[in-house]
Amino acid sequence: ATPTSIMVGTGRAAEMGVLFRKGDALQTLQKTTIVAVDKTGTLTEGKPELTDIETANGFSEQKVLRLIAAVEKKSEHPIAEAIVRAAEKKELTMPSVENFSSVTGYGVQAVVEGKSVLIGADRFMLREGIDLGDLKAIGQALGKKAKTPLYAAIDGQAAAIFAVADPIKESTPSAIQALHNLGLKVAMITGDNKGTAEAIARELGIDHVIAEVLPEGKVAALKDMKSDLVTLAFVGDGINDAPALATADVGIAIGTGTDIAIESADVVLMSGDLRGVVNAFDISKHTMRNIR
Ligand code: ADP
Ligand code: MG
Repeated sequence: ATPTSIMVGTGRAAEMGVLFRKGDALQTLQKTTIVAVDKTGTLTEGKPELTDIETANGFSEQKVLRLIAAVEKKSEHPIAEAIVRAAEKKELTMPSVENFSSVTGYGVQAVVEGKSVLIGADRFMLREGIDLGDLKAIGQALGKKAKTPLYAAIDGQAAAIFAVADPIKESTPSAIQALHNLGLKVAMITGDNKGTAEAIARELGIDHVIAEVLPEGKVAALKDMKSDLVTLAFVGDGINDAPALATADVGIAIGTGTDIAIESADVVLMSGDLRGVVNAFDISKHTMRNIR
């Protein structure tokens, strides 16, 4: 590629809200065959809502919601915000919380009114030796409906199953279709529940799903897919996406994401959705064609 054509290409891209921070990304995109995409905040709005709650072992919904919202007030995870919003809507007063801790990829725990409260994924409950009983089957059914099942335990007893749902961005289905039309395979990487991730992937026609990955596992998942024959782009928005953005052959950050994600990327999209990814591939294709 000549420097002039690259300059013209990156200039046109900038007009469309696609910023190439490195000129060679324009050429690497041309060779790319797999686009791996982070789910939360990239394919979805990143703003889940509490949709279901069912209690067990004689706990009342009001009591469980009050305790878990108190704990989640200390967390910055989008799931936590959904729970706190739901409790505030019901005008529940939240007690104070001691010994809060967050276990990345698993959940959160704290002591509230002298009781030990755990909230998180089924693997968190498993790890802490909580018997989920009938709640487990309810969780699997919720996952099939593309909702994220979560569990609460109080003093070592399963207290509730609840679910949050994060709406798919309006622009996502057509963008995935466009990427397929360009001959690309689309993979989804997420820390979310496997059943939930697969339900969303089915809805969107995504080719490959890697679910229940811990933040540090995203890089390993990308390295598994990447090889001498496969050139891979990764699209993400969050703090925990920065290492993956740096690992991919082309890291594409959603511009509405966090600064650290943007700094780790080769390409930055001004818009908050996947359409910018389609534009980036289109521009790369045109630029390279004009050169040959
Ligand atoms: P992602 O950003 O893809 O959701 P995370 O590693 O942040 O990945 O979270 C993975 C899983 O850990 C969540 O789907 C949830 O099950 C659990 N989890 C993390 N933080 C919380 C929290 N504050 N409250 C409840 N569950 C949580
Ligand atoms: Mg994200």
